[in-house]
Amino acid sequence: MLSCEETRLALPGIEAGEHADGTVRDHLASCDACREAASELRTDLERLRAGLSALAPSPLVEDAVVDIARDQARGAKTGSWKPVLVTLAAAAVLFGVILLSQQGGEPPSGEPPEQATRDARPRLTLDLLADGRLFLDGHQEFALRTNGAWVSPGEIARITEAMAAAVAGAEHDASGNPDVVAVLTVEADTPWMMVQWVMQVCAHPRVRVTRHQFHRMGSDEAPLFNELPTDPGMAPDGSDPLMFTRSFKVKLFAYGNETKVKADDGTWFLGRGDDESVLAAIAELARRALAAAGPDASAEIVAPPPRGGRVRYEHVLHIMRILQDAGVQNVLFEGAAMPPR
Ligand SMILES: [Zn+2]
Repeated sequence: MLSCEETRLALPGIEAGEHADGTVRDHLASCDACREAASELRTDLERLRAGLSALAPSPLVEDAVVDIARDQARGAKTGSWKPVLVTLAAAAVLFGVILLSQQGGEPPSGEPPEQATRDARPRLTLDLLADGRLFLDGHQEFALRTNGAWVSPGEIARITEAMAAAVAGAEHDASGNPDVVAVLTVEADTPWMMVQWVMQVCAHPRVRVTRHQFHRMGSDEAPLFNELPTDPGMAPDGSDPLMFTRSFKVKLFAYGNETKVKADDGTWFLGRGDDESVLAAIAELARRALAAAGPDASAEIVAPPPRGGRVRYEHVLHIMRILQDAGVQNVLFEGAAMPPR
């Protein structure tokens, strides 16, 4: 007879389609707690897959579904699979899949002011150049582009390992994620796609860094802080994944050095020399739309491939700043999936 522990280690594989051998079936037949854990896991995975399937995410995320469930089983004392979704949810956000509710994500009262909390957190320093060179903590070098080709899966694996090692000793926050801020200092001309890839590695189950601070390299503008949601909320009736109401969506497309910005029924271009008046017009629209949507308003930057991926980083930063100034605490992103393996 298998132990509960052995059984739970086998569950993620079984839910992912591996054959359940007789010993696992025997245990499940006789153990209510493990049967309940199996059913809870199945529900969570179905929910997650339902959300992800629409966007055909990279194998990185699909594998993560099973990997993180296994890790969770190893460390699980609670029998709850909920934390499994925390990290996956952050990864899913980058594919435009929102499985999360913001309810329950409020910081506990009595916390120090947010800025102080942020400043106290350990940092993962990521410097990204427009040619695709990525530096981790100022010395480890990686390439998101080699001889004109986009990042290789092997390089993504190297970056993932290095980041996992860098956060390994960090304290964990209430969600069970490392209490770390990824400080992204990026050259203005960098294609947004490369920044998204770095954010996807940050959201990998082995890294799980969901807070980002965005800087423009060589600029003394105040950095922008953004946190991807990590609270695995469910629909109130426990059925379908709960989707955010996206109150305001801004779509970005690159045309050479210019960026076409679409929001509601307005269209603008950044990079033609009149950016200040263009940004003022977008800001006015964002303020009105978000005020009308009320306190739960959310905002999303959508950069659909292929043109969205080539939008210059500084233009995305402009829009992010406008959305935060208009009252959205954290901006959601949708865009490029990782290159396939
Ligand atoms: Zn059991």
